[in-house]
Amino acid sequence: MEERYYIYENWHRKRGRIHLASCGYCNDGRGPQQADSGKNGRWHGPFDRNHAFAAVEHLQMSADIQPRAVCNP
Ligand SMILES: [Zn+2]
Repeated sequence: MEERYYIYENWHRKRGRIHLASCGYCNDGRGPQQADSGKNGRWHGPFDRNHAFAAVEHLQMSADIQPRAVCNP
């Protein structure tokens, strides 16, 4: 089964990070256990790997995102 990816977009820092759906922070796109009020950012996804990186480009977060920085717990 192919892993799914989500992107967390942080509005304050104008940056994003790609997360695996299975990672503890991503929590399948729902974020950490503490409910995210939506003030700090939002989740995009799910994507497969190629689409996740393409979406980063589309969201213009590429200036700050580190393409290799997919979390890998
Ligand atoms: Zn993660």
